[in-house]
Amino acid sequence: MSSHPPPEPLPRAVVDNHTHLDISRDGRDITLGDLGPALAAAAAVGVHRVVQIGCDLPSARFAVQAAQEYAGVVAGVALHPNEAPRLAAAGRLEAAYAEIAELATHPRVRVIGESGLDYFRTGPDGVAAQQDSFRWHIALARRLGKPLQVHDRDAHEDVLRILAEEDAPPDTVMHCFSGDVAMARACVARGYVLSFSGTVTFKNSRDLRNALAVVPLEQVQVETDAPYLAPHPWRGKDNSPALLPQTVRVMAGVLGVSVAELCEVTSATAQRLYGPW
Ligand SMILES: [Zn+2]
Repeated sequence: MSSHPPPEPLPRAVVDNHTHLDISRDGRDITLGDLGPALAAAAAVGVHRVVQIGCDLPSARFAVQAAQEYAGVVAGVALHPNEAPRLAAAGRLEAAYAEIAELATHPRVRVIGESGLDYFRTGPDGVAAQQDSFRWHIALARRLGKPLQVHDRDAHEDVLRILAEEDAPPDTVMHCFSGDVAMARACVARGYVLSFSGTVTFKNSRDLRNALAVVPLEQVQVETDAPYLAPHPWRGKDNSPALLPQTVRVMAGVLGVSVAELCEVTSATAQRLYGPW
């Protein structure tokens, strides 16, 4: 992984709010069996439970299987905002919606996500399809009474506007929060949960740390978004749930609480959101 030794174990168990254990950055195929060692390495440092997120049909199916196979895994399913325009252009969006809606009813699926808007990787031609898809996923979460995990990349205003227009579910989680202090305050006021990834540990992320500092502890989640966004000093390397303790420690410092308290409160919030594992 890198020359840095793995993080010290956390003093309390913690939940990785958002991970993609099925994705390898080098394109290598990952099977269900490969998850065992990854989950064991995470548990060894205190990360006993993860939310495995599927963002297209194959990975949504994989997430449900992983959650059935491993007690430490629950699943989220959705079509990623970059996936919806692609499926729409291919005339396969309606069939994909039907399968996501079916998978979403599975008892091990505890969240609809990640859905939202990504104006970084999808250009103006995909905006309408993304927004339609976001609205569809919000409605699905509401109909099933499950939480929603929101993906927002360079689309803060439209994400907040559509969440308000569609009457976002009571449990709405801003995954990999990337806004500023003002946006954090707006999300907090609406009762959303803000989930922070390894980006909060980057040297140039002072604005993000300032945003974290205004979030009440009960509305905070921690995540890897692995295999992406490895925390400092692993930035640029492959991320995994076993690296989450580094992010937790930095966040505890920003929030002015002990690492143990941050673990306990975020775990309790994760259980309130997603139920028992
Ligand atoms: Zn993700």
